[in-house]
Amino acid sequence: MQVLKDRIQEQGIVIEPNILKVDNFLNHQIDVKLYEQIGKEFAKRYQDQKIDRILTVEAGGIALACFVAQAMEYQPVVYAKKDPSAIISDDVYYANVHSFTKKRDYNIRVDKRFINENDNVLVIDDFLANGEAGLGLAKIVEEAKANVVGFGIVIEKGFQPGRNKLEEHGYRVESLAIIDEFKNGEVVFK
Ligand code: 5GP
Repeated sequence: MQVLKDRIQEQGIVIEPNILKVDNFLNHQIDVKLYEQIGKEFAKRYQDQKIDRILTVEAGGIALACFVAQAMEYQPVVYAKKDPSAIISDDVYYANVHSFTKKRDYNIRVDKRFINENDNVLVIDDFLANGEAGLGLAKIVEEAKANVVGFGIVIEKGFQPGRNKLEEHGYRVESLAIIDEFKNGEVVFK
């Protein structure tokens, strides 16, 4: 998606050997028009599929998933919660995820009422790195006896093993910008 790649080139900052900061338009400040375009692009790529529900993880994925739902047919968006919360029931699916950016483990939880057996679920996330978040979300979908239709990833770091891990499980992965490498602080796309 060229408009996204242009923004990454213009405003993305490589902050660690493997981490890209895009808080100007994606992760902190939100470019709503770009989000709208992202939503439409995922809707186009998955137009051949029946999708009942869109799943993501808080907090960054929520707005993205809403724009995808809007560009599709207003399917419900469900986001996995990260921290124990008094208002979530005990009847949850959960997965343990290792955070690539925070370098620690955390649990994600989804209330069992919000994924039904046989639901076709599209998983949306901002980044794909080692595939930990994706595999955790997929585990939750599988435990609910629902189907993972595929993944919609905004920025994939192609030099990390996330895609391979998801594809090994047979999941379809659609990424809007695939980064080949960071070279002298610059982003090189595939
Ligand atoms: P994974 O679970 O695939 O290893 O990493 C995906 C998650 O880590 C994403 O949800 C995202 O929040 C975060 N992440 C991974 N790599 C980056 C990165 O380079 N930049 C930013 N901003 N977040 C990242």
